[in-house]
Amino acid sequence: MPKSLKNKIDPYIIDVIGRLRSAGFETYLVGGAVRDILLDRTPKDYDVSTAATPEEVRRVFRDRHTLIIGKRFRLVHLIRGRDITEISTFRKRPDQEDQADRPKRCENAPENMIFHDNAFGTSRDDAFRRDFTVNAIFYDPIDDKLVDHTGLGVSDLRDGIVRTIGDPSLRFEEDPVRVLRAIKLVGQYGFTMESETGRAVRDSLELILHASPSRLSLELEKILRNSYTDSILKAFHDYGFLRYYLPDLDAVFETPEMDYALQLLALRGERIRSGIFRASLSTAVAMVALPFAETEIGQAGRGGLWDYYLGVESDLRHIILRLFHPLVLTHRTTSDAVNNLLMQLRFKTHRRLHSCADRKGYPGAREFAIIQNIVAWHIPDFEDSCPLPVRSSGATNIKRRRGHRGGRRGGNGNPDQAQTVHAAAQAAESVEPATESERDFNA
Ligand code: ATP
Ligand code: MG
Repeated sequence: MPKSLKNKIDPYIIDVIGRLRSAGFETYLVGGAVRDILLDRTPKDYDVSTAATPEEVRRVFRDRHTLIIGKRFRLVHLIRGRDITEISTFRKRPDQEDQADRPKRCENAPENMIFHDNAFGTSRDDAFRRDFTVNAIFYDPIDDKLVDHTGLGVSDLRDGIVRTIGDPSLRFEEDPVRVLRAIKLVGQYGFTMESETGRAVRDSLELILHASPSRLSLELEKILRNSYTDSILKAFHDYGFLRYYLPDLDAVFETPEMDYALQLLALRGERIRSGIFRASLSTAVAMVALPFAETEIGQAGRGGLWDYYLGVESDLRHIILRLFHPLVLTHRTTSDAVNNLLMQLRFKTHRRLHSCADRKGYPGAREFAIIQNIVAWHIPDFEDSCPLPVRSSGATNIKRRRGHRGGRRGGNGNPDQAQTVHAAAQAAESVEPATESERDFNA
């Protein structure tokens, strides 16, 4: 008998859900964490959905470590050290009438685009306002119960299928960021698109030009933090989506430089998944930029870096800004990535490394150097000769993450994946079935 799903969840999250439940509010674990647990992967964060309003959530936690955030919809961030748990109130799909007062700058946006999305609803409403069936599975860790309102979430996850909830063209028009999210699922898990969803994705690529730049930048940050950055970017390119999302990166996607960047990112992903390294946004940015910097400001080509000169920082910054144009990374991320790149020469030549082992960006730069050494430098005993970071708050993952099973990627019809999801779903005490009418939603 497989172990309960509950054992795969951080006890802190079970406590959070338990506290909301004890205060009388129906509450579930939702979103990517449920997906990852069922696929036997380690969730990178947890989303919680509850009947409590944001103010009620704050009261349950006596306002401690909580922050109400969001303009488009309000939710609570529960903060514990570096980890943030998002607690959102059950919402429903907004009515078309609610969208009458569209912002001025969005007058040319698609007819069905949603601008206001903050109407509270029931847990069932909340499942049906979500984007894909595999993202709408709820888990109650107190009673160890999965709730699959659409009736297709668990089977689609088992079969590796991306399927919108409801009419795909309409759902993409309502919110074009869903196009990005659909292709991200393909890249991250090796899923395939259900045929109607796939057709609508291909017809809706350009809609992303109407999405808010801040949301797109936020998604970019999440992609760069993800351990599957390389395969997500490849899926974006294969679907013809990268041309609209990151046109300057798309233009160089088939160059040897990008090939090298993808190799670096792939190895980084493997190391994150095996617990050696903790995902760092600025290191991923540095990895994308490095091969282009070697070509543009270095002389020796791959692995040769560049010599220091006055103004190198600004050149590196420009390369980063250009590659990610028109999206904007924060000033801090860009600066951290530039510092990371600048430290690479020190690592390669082993110059005064001890004197910077306590710097904030050292762990990420060290990890990047180790990866470059594996892919290009091939300096013997390199890792052993790089001083360990002096501070533990950096990017090196000291603690092995719980429950991880290596880098195995699922896929459509993958028998291992089917078995994993089946066993995991069986492990829950019960899976609440959908009613027949719910099951018909996609017909
Ligand atoms: P990740 O593991 O990258 O966090 P995720 O699916 O959890 O993946 P989030 O952005 O954290 O992504 O969103 C949490 C959940 O909220 C999703 O699983 C989905 O159910 C819902 N959601 C997110 N974005 C949308 C959207 N644009 N439209 C509808 N539902 C969405
Ligand atoms: Mg999430």
